[in-house]
Amino acid sequence: LFIITSSFNSVCCIGAGYVGGPTMAMIALKCPHIEVTVVDLNQQRIDAWNSDNLPIYEPGLDEVVKACRGKNLFFSTDCEAAIRAAQCIFVSVNTPTKKTGLGKGKAADLTYWESAARNIAAWSTSDKIIVEKSTVPVRTAEAIEKVLLRNCPQEGVHFDILSNPEFLAEGTAIDDLTMPDRVLIGGKIENDRGTAACAALCEVYANWVPKERILTANLWSAELSKLTANAMLAQRISSINAISALCECTGADVSQVSFAIGKDSRIGPKFLNASVGFGGSCFQKDILNLAYICECHGLQEVADYWYSVVGMNDYQKTRFVRRVVSAMFNTIRNKKIAMLGFAFKKDTGDTRETPAIDVAHGMIEDGAKIALFDPQVPEEQVRMDMGEEAMKSITCYSKPTEALKDAHAVTIMTEWDEFKTYDWRAIYEVMHKPAFVFDGRNILDHAHLSEIGFIVYALGKPIDP
Ligand code: NAD
Repeated sequence: LFIITSSFNSVCCIGAGYVGGPTMAMIALKCPHIEVTVVDLNQQRIDAWNSDNLPIYEPGLDEVVKACRGKNLFFSTDCEAAIRAAQCIFVSVNTPTKKTGLGKGKAADLTYWESAARNIAAWSTSDKIIVEKSTVPVRTAEAIEKVLLRNCPQEGVHFDILSNPEFLAEGTAIDDLTMPDRVLIGGKIENDRGTAACAALCEVYANWVPKERILTANLWSAELSKLTANAMLAQRISSINAISALCECTGADVSQVSFAIGKDSRIGPKFLNASVGFGGSCFQKDILNLAYICECHGLQEVADYWYSVVGMNDYQKTRFVRRVVSAMFNTIRNKKIAMLGFAFKKDTGDTRETPAIDVAHGMIEDGAKIALFDPQVPEEQVRMDMGEEAMKSITCYSKPTEALKDAHAVTIMTEWDEFKTYDWRAIYEVMHKPAFVFDGRNILDHAHLSEIGFIVYALGKPIDP
């Protein structure tokens, strides 16, 4: 006989990062009857969550946290107390790609997950529902279950594992959490216990998500859906980027191609912007992980298919640098190149796997002096991402005008809205001539820039004569 509380009043989340913080804040906001505690090993991060200066930048997040912090939302480093008290434990720790491994295959590094699971096992004195919030390889729940069952000293404690992958996108996390396209909950729906656990979590989301958007699935389908969703999204970007290269050779305009194909309801208009490449902590890592799993199952051709998506992304970044160099008379040695944007996308300060890192390294290799401005990325972050050696060729500015003054070229790395509103005529006046623009996000008004006098290179567009 088992009893699963059909409604929780106490949940905790292990991992107070880009996912754990915002998702738990949203649960706290929408479920005032639930006490939510978010724990992390990182004291600095927890201090920041408890301050006016949250550790991540995300539009709308401050308001949500302020509305519930200290009422039913708590941030703490006391993992043990939080685990003991919670009926339901979300695990949202980082699952990076392993640095070692044979061949191209890169497994997910589940070190943090395993250690979280060992802590849960050690400290649990009552039944718990464990929710995989992190993106994990398919069948991780099986391994986690072994860790939990074999390490729990308390007899009779039962763990029910659910997979509830997070589909939020950084930069729009609060909107995505407020009205998600879907919430996916995977569990052992083939038995009553699993079904009851799924139902209990469904009930939490039903406080604000329309019921028809809450989907249940078996555990393995839910785990695999997250990897597949990211692989498909990244593949779409690589597909349009591949076409952008062909556009440049043929006089076709990738924006017109995207618009035309996006009108096909089978294709749809979203995620069809050509760019310097995808970045972020997830796409590449999840594709590499998916491919690794395929290889483990002997599916080499399937793995190679997904590797090609990453390969195309690398090609796009290299191609961008080559274009800069060749357009600027085959050398950028000692030329000041203004780099606008460093974050991997707009409305976030996150720089993980940002294409700007590879592009900056590529340009530095050719001798460029980079003048960098990003509205949200501090110099210390750039230093961490680029390394001391590269920083000898990079100057970070807190004002775009300073980065642009006397520059030979501007490279747009992130699609920040503010870049569109700059006075490009005034910028042209203070730049070296000929002044080049390389729009790696296709966000600027290229006709206007050409009219001013810039030589404009946009992705997948006919080159300005
Ligand atoms: P993150 O690195 O920002 O946060 C993870 C946090 O977990 C860190 O603060 C770390 O200190 C903490 N942690 C690690 N081990 C711990 C332990 N044993 N006990 C307590 N705290 C521990 O990562 P993130 O971007 O929030 O991603 C988390 C997971 O969600 C990953 O699996 C990622 O793939 C997935 N995901 C991320 C996004 C995104 O946009 N960032 C979106 C969907 C899913």
